[in-house]
Amino acid sequence: MLEESVLKKFRGGFHGQVIIPSDNDYESARKVWNGMIDKHPALIAKCKDENDVVSAINFARTNRLTIAVRGGGHNVAGFGTCDDGIVIDLTNMKNAEVDPKAKTIVAGPGLTWGEFDKATQAHGLATTGGLVSSTGIAGFTLGGGFGWLVRKLGLTIDNLLSAEVVLADGKHVTASPTENQDLFWGIRGGGGNFGIVTSFKYKLSPVGPEVYGGAIFHPIAKAKELLQFYRKWAPTTPEELSTTTVFLTAPPEPFVPKELVGSQMIAVALCYLGSKEDGDKVIEPLRNFARPAIDLAGPIPYTALQGMFDGSAPKGIHSYWRTEHMQDLGDKLLDVLVEQTSSLKSLSPFTAVHIHHWEGAVKKANPKESAFSHRDTRFVMNIIGAWTAEEDPDKHIKWVRSFSDLIKPFGSGSQYFNFIADATEDKVKAAFDADKYKKLVELKNKYDPNNLFHLNQNIKPTV
Ligand SMILES: Cc1cc2nc3c(=O)[nH]c(=O)nc-3n(C[C@H](O)[C@H](O)[C@H](O)COP(=O)(O)OP(=O)(O)OC[C@H]3O[C@@H](n4cnc5c(N)ncnc54)[C@H](O)[C@@H]3O)c2cc1C
Repeated sequence: MLEESVLKKFRGGFHGQVIIPSDNDYESARKVWNGMIDKHPALIAKCKDENDVVSAINFARTNRLTIAVRGGGHNVAGFGTCDDGIVIDLTNMKNAEVDPKAKTIVAGPGLTWGEFDKATQAHGLATTGGLVSSTGIAGFTLGGGFGWLVRKLGLTIDNLLSAEVVLADGKHVTASPTENQDLFWGIRGGGGNFGIVTSFKYKLSPVGPEVYGGAIFHPIAKAKELLQFYRKWAPTTPEELSTTTVFLTAPPEPFVPKELVGSQMIAVALCYLGSKEDGDKVIEPLRNFARPAIDLAGPIPYTALQGMFDGSAPKGIHSYWRTEHMQDLGDKLLDVLVEQTSSLKSLSPFTAVHIHHWEGAVKKANPKESAFSHRDTRFVMNIIGAWTAEEDPDKHIKWVRSFSDLIKPFGSGSQYFNFIADATEDKVKAAFDADKYKKLVELKNKYDPNNLFHLNQNIKPTV
């Protein structure tokens, strides 16, 4: 329990809002995207500017408070909140200064991808952002970041030009290719381990405003055949095309014929950077594979495509994930996938399995430039358990875990940093190449030796 006088002094120097358990907005302010996370911080410091971030870090250090850092609050493990400690909440730091000539944006850590894209698309520009528009840019970027533009533009970190960072001792530094290069290397893939980023500068590229995208749906009975086709076809497609295959329950949306709502389906969701004519040509083999049950591919505003999955991931849904990198989608793995997804119907309409295809620009980028590892990964599988508050969590968590155990032998042993839900030391280690992990530990020893920033996919210091 913090003393009144200590809190009063902190409030006095703070420009944003300080929320404590007796405040009316505490209930909503303590919550993150994942409704399963039910934590009660001692205070939530909603920062207005960088000075607030400095004050909050210094306050936490002096009073020995656990720190949770919140950007968009989407981390599935719930690292954006904590019990008893302080949430350094950056959600109100939403500046977005686009320089259309230089094709750059200086972006606040409180922006979501929806807000970021709105600002950049006003100039026909974008960078690789997330598949759900409410995801925060901050945590997302620091863990790598991939989405609809990934095969053409690379990961989000491949488009990061510099970042302003407040360190554990409260000092502000710039991390860029010319300043604090080691820190710049580390924050590109190493997450929130080294400090709090108060501003990101990204390179932007011409995108849209209209792209070619959407999804092609088939009944789940076609899943094995479709994936046998997809594993050969996706790697041959141009980098302008990014795709994700999704096992899902057909949602009650206007584009789903009534008789298909609630049925189990498999869809290839896609984004092609080009004209309708070229897009039609590129996905012709996918259309010819078998007659789609629903064909939603065509010209679409990029911002609309960015929101296409939003309905599948509402704030407050309870969620648990397991992820695995895959080099191949061999027949035996497909048999496991088909078998396990046959029970989707008995779970929840929000439960899904995603298979994201990488390669392209992810693989081409110089691996030495950033901490991010495993760039040769071809497919990223994500098993998404999602359910409502009324349901029994055990059933869903058990399903995700046993499914994940069955596919593990087919994986390459590593995982995507941003998707790790149980952030054990082994899993965090496995997200990196061994030499990169060693270098990350050295960086942690240098920038955060006392592990002030430990509520994350933690890289433990050794000093
Ligand atoms: C519905 C949904 C869809 C997603 N889709 C994608 C996707 O398409 N592609 C993809 O790559 N990932 C995706 N993710 C994963 C996403 O990248 C991570 O959840 C990421 O952590 C979200 O960032 P955030 O700022 O919203 O998270 P938060 O929960 O706010 O933060 C997570 C962690 O990031 C660190 N952090 C956040 N802000 C800062 C900061 N300013 N400075 C230092 N550290 C900070 C902290 O360690 C914090 O604990 C998705 C997640 C969800 C829930």
